[in-house]
Amino acid sequence: MKYAIGIDLGGTNLKIAAVTPKGRVISYTVRKSRIVKDRKTAVRNLVRCIRDIEKSIKGKHLIGVGAGIAGTVKTDKGIVSQSPNLPELEGTNLKDEISDILSCPFFIDNDANVFAMGEGWCGSAKDCKNFCGITLGTGVGGGIVIDGRIFHGSCGAAGEVGHIVVEPMGAQCRCGSFGCLEAYASSTGLVRMAIDDFYSRNAVSLRRLCNNNKKKITPEVIARLAERGDSFCISLFEMVGTYLGIAMADIVNLLNPELIVIGGGLSKSAHLFLNTAKKEFKRRSLKAAGKNIKIVTASSDKAGVVGAAYMVLKRFGAI
Ligand SMILES: [Zn+2]
Repeated sequence: MKYAIGIDLGGTNLKIAAVTPKGRVISYTVRKSRIVKDRKTAVRNLVRCIRDIEKSIKGKHLIGVGAGIAGTVKTDKGIVSQSPNLPELEGTNLKDEISDILSCPFFIDNDANVFAMGEGWCGSAKDCKNFCGITLGTGVGGGIVIDGRIFHGSCGAAGEVGHIVVEPMGAQCRCGSFGCLEAYASSTGLVRMAIDDFYSRNAVSLRRLCNNNKKKITPEVIARLAERGDSFCISLFEMVGTYLGIAMADIVNLLNPELIVIGGGLSKSAHLFLNTAKKEFKRRSLKAAGKNIKIVTASSDKAGVVGAAYMVLKRFGAI
């Protein structure tokens, strides 16, 4: 039987899986993505991860490897042109370099694009022709599917919903602009908002839980307190929801999709912000476009690796 390997190379984790043409994950591993800071070692580590998973699969034929990376990718050439979270890989032709070492085809796309591919193939967006995937992780990514295909734009930079401006005079984003969605609705944005008000009267429970140490603030700590009813941490997640709702209304007014699927690490706390996001979205979207839209969360945290493998399986006619 045939299979493909899918990689989801995010700002924090490197997820890697072997996936069958039916979308079944037969092997899966998660590692830290930033263990090295130079290009050569990063590529070597990536190859080692691929070989490790290949060794764990017996009696099956590997068709190729697909990867999604946080950043802008020229998919036809396989070049990572910009990656704020993984700068050591910027300018690298991963497609040529890795396929030469492995002697097997290697394809690469943006990580939110492969997330959307995975959700569209066998996840929450199955059977949808026009939808948008949003990943709320270390950064905020977006994958736009139009008529069943990812829309890449003129140089692979389309769908960067994380850089939709939601607060004109807002916090500076890593892209250099101000008030981008990513500066609020990512795990780094959430932690930054908590740090900004860490010494306010309202943040007393957060200070206590973190022993007065800002460095101990994580999205998980904020979520735990919000679930216990802490008003400060609840309000932080409400900000995430409000800004996400504004961006979703912009996307829907522009593209009129039938569904938006939300994934990424922060979507595990969707119960703390999704209702606020939907309310804000309703307030701002045009009636015709916003009326019947479904806003859902990801089917699993493996959608990225499944979508990356799909890119290969589809290309070689295995699906
Ligand atoms: Zn930005």
